[in-house]
Amino acid sequence: MTVCELCGEETRSRYLCERHTVQLAKRLDDLPTLYAEVGECLVPRRSGPAEFVSTAPAGPRSPLDEDVLDTVNMARAAEVLQLWRVDVQRERWPQHTPPPPAALDANCRWLAMELEWIVDHYPGAGDMAREVGELEAQARTIVGDPAPRPQRLGTCVAADSDGVICGAVISRLPGQSRVTCRWCGYSYESEQDWLLLLHFQPREAA
Ligand SMILES: [Zn+2]
Ligand SMILES: [Zn+2]
Repeated sequence: MTVCELCGEETRSRYLCERHTVQLAKRLDDLPTLYAEVGECLVPRRSGPAEFVSTAPAGPRSPLDEDVLDTVNMARAAEVLQLWRVDVQRERWPQHTPPPPAALDANCRWLAMELEWIVDHYPGAGDMAREVGELEAQARTIVGDPAPRPQRLGTCVAADSDGVICGAVISRLPGQSRVTCRWCGYSYESEQDWLLLLHFQPREAA
């Protein structure tokens, strides 16, 4: 086994490449929050006593396909990861008794802690990564996939050869450490650049 099960990249005898290992770790970390959001987005199917149903406020029916509630929910995600956890544990410690059913966050944490071993030794690593990816994608169909918003940092303070300040708006995505001004092409990347940018911002008119 020398290539990543997901992308075919060389991995020096691991089941996943570095990029897909990191991606899987991140997904395991994100899933519990994501599914908590799913729970908030979806109001469960009414299953209470009949009178409760009949007194429910009349109104337009939810546009949601209610079947989605049966397939995309925290309990099912927890179950899927439970199966992987049981299987990984059986491979790694065959003598142990299987773990009792646990919540999604506990299963995600456990798998994340064993990730190095999984990627090195567990032949199901690729399938597990794919299934975790599907769980994430399903949740995203409900909670949406908010694209990170650019933060406006100020206006470009670079000066041209005549000493004229550029003044174009400079914004960056969260975590982005290097921004090239789209107007004058000045590249903000060092700590110093950012400090200068902030320092020379024109004062807002009070
Ligand atoms: Zn890969
Ligand atoms: Zn500029």
